[in-house]
Amino acid sequence: MTRALWLADALRAEGVTVVEEPGWRDRGNPTFSPKGVICHHTAGPARGDAPSLGTCINGRPGLPGPLCQIVLARSGTAHVIASGRANHAGAGGWRGLTGNTSVFGIEAENTGLGEPWPQVQYDAYVRVVAALCRRGGIPTGMVCAHREWAPTRKIDPRGIDMTDFRHHVADRLGPIAPPPVTPPEGFLMALTEAEQREILAKVRSTDLRVQELDQQLTDGADAKKGGISRRILDALARLEAR
Ligand SMILES: [Zn+2]
Repeated sequence: MTRALWLADALRAEGVTVVEEPGWRDRGNPTFSPKGVICHHTAGPARGDAPSLGTCINGRPGLPGPLCQIVLARSGTAHVIASGRANHAGAGGWRGLTGNTSVFGIEAENTGLGEPWPQVQYDAYVRVVAALCRRGGIPTGMVCAHREWAPTRKIDPRGIDMTDFRHHVADRLGPIAPPPVTPPEGFLMALTEAEQREILAKVRSTDLRVQELDQQLTDGADAKKGGISRRILDALARLEAR
């Protein structure tokens, strides 16, 4: 992946109110291959809907903008500011990911001083992340707080329990859509409701991409690996490719 030019559309599809900030399609380095999401708070001013927007777009002394891809206002409006790499992660990592090339960054407006999260903003936060997971093919387990990325340096987003948050995102994503009436090649018809649930549970519990599962299966001598059969794996690969 290079630029995430689908950002605004994906957010709208998830029911988020979106403002496309001028120039967002060309902002941020195009060397961008996000496989995870970092959730931040802005630590910005206490007043206003998105008082940190300008800083996030233009950067601050010593740190050039953009400082994220999305600024989430207190009202729940998502300002899309960049489609490419942004400066937000810093030193640290999450489940094998390091560096700004590997992660989306969302800066949610909040003082970070114990300010409660408005329900409308929290709900939008869940939707924004769900949109990135859905459209970007990112497992919910690859969503982290900045404080999980850099535990010794960061506390953001303060006041959000990430275990709960990831559950809310997973709930939002819901079960895999039922097979269409006319499946493309008939493979979906062969999948039972239980098998679809098995796929979903497996992906969420392992956080492995299909490709990695496939690699494991290919490398292994046994027909089954980790409880996933070749038949289900093939179907999963096709589902992911859709
Ligand atoms: Zn942060």
